[in-house]
Amino acid sequence: MTSTAQDFIERRLEAIRRRHLFRQITPLDHGTTPWITIDGRKLLNLSSNNYLGLADHPRLKEAAIAAIRDYGCGAGASRLVTGTTSLHEQLEQRLAAFKGCEQALLFSSGYHANMGVISSFVGPRDVVLSDELNHASIIDGIRLSGAEYKIYPHRNIVVLERQLDELDTSGHCGLRLVVTDSVFSMDGDVAPLSEIAGLCKKYDALLVVDEAHATGCLGPGGRGLVSQVGVDTNIVSVNTLSKGFGVIGAFVTGSGQIKEFLTNVARQFIFTTALPPADVAASLAALDILEEDPELPQRLQQKASFLRIGLQKLGFQTLNSETQIIPLLIGDSTRTLQMAQALREHGVYAVAIRPPTVPMGAARIRFSVMASHTQEDLVFALEIVEKVGREMGLIGRGNDGL
Ligand code: PMP
Repeated sequence: MTSTAQDFIERRLEAIRRRHLFRQITPLDHGTTPWITIDGRKLLNLSSNNYLGLADHPRLKEAAIAAIRDYGCGAGASRLVTGTTSLHEQLEQRLAAFKGCEQALLFSSGYHANMGVISSFVGPRDVVLSDELNHASIIDGIRLSGAEYKIYPHRNIVVLERQLDELDTSGHCGLRLVVTDSVFSMDGDVAPLSEIAGLCKKYDALLVVDEAHATGCLGPGGRGLVSQVGVDTNIVSVNTLSKGFGVIGAFVTGSGQIKEFLTNVARQFIFTTALPPADVAASLAALDILEEDPELPQRLQQKASFLRIGLQKLGFQTLNSETQIIPLLIGDSTRTLQMAQALREHGVYAVAIRPPTVPMGAARIRFSVMASHTQEDLVFALEIVEKVGREMGLIGRGNDGL
């Protein structure tokens, strides 16, 4: 490597370390179960997006193994070459039916899907209106597209309407795209979807909703927030198979025309190898389980409410979370790291989330609940959080709040 490149890397890393934002990878024996082992220690896992506990479900494993026997390990090519098996087609049809849409199109990941959808629909003559807390893959999709963009304050439909109105009066004639997470990944709160959909209709804007943390977890039988609030299901929605479904990959739902459009235009769909058959088969098995047990998402939300209310009663600030993602706001990055470390020493694994993932001064511990957590697991978590919170002076002696 050249010395200029080495200098650049060193300076960049030093700046990250100085701001206490250095990140490290933690290897685990098994990361998706309610209890995990790190460095030989058993810890309660409150940091997995395997919300429904399906990642190691015997039926998913059997389906994956059978697919490997029948189709081999890799797909061998991109979808438009020789990478599409009958399993891919079956999964797309089943997912479209599940979400009540005309069509679904698989992508390799939610990251690819958001990048692909946004950069396919808009270019430099168009405008994107985006919630300030949208996921990084949405932001990167907007940057890649070269579109003009306006960020509206988190869940603020008054400002969103003003921005749309300004576009109208300025005579802007390119495409307008409004994009929002339905469940926000670091706050666990939900977007005001019906209001946003109403504005999109009024101002002729295309609505893209990222249902990454909602599909499988919220709405009737896990069909997501779009379905729950009764928005036209043929808007464009991005859904992951990596979280509620416990596998990997993503799918975009919409009309038949949207599927044809993305199949022909989305570079993140066209120029990458298709999902391995084993993952597709495991996703089909996850969908079978969800359809057979439509109350599974509800059980997840009941467990999440128990933990959230418990944290609030202890005096912690959980922002506006109303889902399985529960932030415990600390503010300062160093204190947040100390808390995560202390929780870990007492047997609870919950990660510290710091800028740039969240805004400056909004560092937090992010808890995520799984349907496979038991009541005892969550009681244990509350006991440890209370103990650590008191030791660190984050909560008072009694239940008297911060
Ligand atoms: N959207 C949101 C809101 C997310 O939180 C994530 C991942 N955390 C993604 C998209 C990307 O999904 P994937 O992990 O499947 O790439």
